Amino acid sequence: MDLKDLYRDVILDHNRQPRNFGPIEADGAEVQHAEGHNPLCGDRLTVYVRLNGERVEDVRFVGSGCAISTASASLMTEAVKGKDRAAVARLFDRVHTLLTHADAEPDAQLGKLAALSGVREFPARVKCATLSWHTLNAALERGAATVSTE
Ligand code: ZN
Repeated sequence: MDLKDLYRDVILDHNRQPRNFGPIEADGAEVQHAEGHNPLCGDRLTVYVRLNGERVEDVRFVGSGCAISTASASLMTEAVKGKDRAAVARLFDRVHTLLTHADAEPDAQLGKLAALSGVREFPARVKCATLSWHTLNAALERGAATVSTE
């Protein structure tokens, strides 16, 4: 399967059936969240995280947006769950490089996130793909915040 097929299949699949969609119920444990907005496209997301020390124990999202923003958020939640903050930061670095460098090759550690390289063909949509990651960072850093890609 080449990257174009991977892009189409993964984005369609995760848009149609977003993983980890819905809020985290705050059953006594502390849940941090942040809202993200991409005014260029109209995407809006809220990302919820529950930390156990430095580790992302649970991560979920709600919101509405284009297929790329929804699929990217879904892929993000799958990729970061169970990782510690430092690993999440490294992964976002990789994803960001993949999205913004035309010659960046997806490495094996990216897994399904490699499909996001297809977004490079649509530079106006890169912010759709990074919105969930920026929103995750805000949720991790400040507990509750609103971020905008502008
Ligand atoms: Zn979008």
